Amino acid sequence: MPDDPGLDRARRDAQALHVRVQQEAALALAAECTAERDPARLAPRLAQAAATVADAYTAASPVRAQHACKKGCSFCCYQPVRLTPAEAITIAAVLRANLPAEWLARLQTVLEQRTRGLAGLGVADYRKARIPCPFLDGTGACGIHPVRPLACRGVASVDLPGCQTHYVDPEKPQPRLDQLVFVTTNAVQEALRSTCRERGRDATVYELHAAVGRALATADAAARWAAGEDVFADCLTLDAQQ
Ligand code: SF4
Repeated sequence: MPDDPGLDRARRDAQALHVRVQQEAALALAAECTAERDPARLAPRLAQAAATVADAYTAASPVRAQHACKKGCSFCCYQPVRLTPAEAITIAAVLRANLPAEWLARLQTVLEQRTRGLAGLGVADYRKARIPCPFLDGTGACGIHPVRPLACRGVASVDLPGCQTHYVDPEKPQPRLDQLVFVTTNAVQEALRSTCRERGRDATVYELHAAVGRALATADAAARWAAGEDVFADCLTLDAQQ
């Protein structure tokens, strides 16, 4: 079958955009690395800077007005989420700063139990199991919205019926997403990873429960990660199980 020139063009445009945004984000993140003197502050600073670049592209999307996503809509929060150590450390720091000790201990137990349950589960099984994100609050809102992972920021639906259908039956096609948001956020995550990797910091993408659980259980995770230590050794990635 002959190639569709329209599709080819769209693919080339998306690749060019990905490269451009990755370079732009890498420059911004390199500047943060140079400016930050406190190693324990590096992870939050990088995660925040990456989120800022990604959010700027989302805000400028030509189909922004068609985004179906709103507070309390959580159809997509039952999917596996992967994130970098810098993001996991940032989420853990915010949780530590805001949750009472008793809630934090309960959350940590949930994260540990879920992580054990997820070992050996493939991505497809995870979707079918419809596991609610541990950070969903009782109203269906994201309890860590300001520091949510880039993987979550990159999912901007323009297809609410598709979200509902996919939630009810994960084997049905994925909803239509704002491709500009998806491509640019993915490019920012790549930039975050390469910035960390080039400076000797772990940049693996880990499974959410496992990585945030490890960051919470390791009081000095931020400083140790910044020093190049393998704080997340053996954490679940889900990669090998797809
Ligand atoms: S972190 Fe927030 S946005 Fe991401 S899956 Fe969890 S509740 Fe949803």
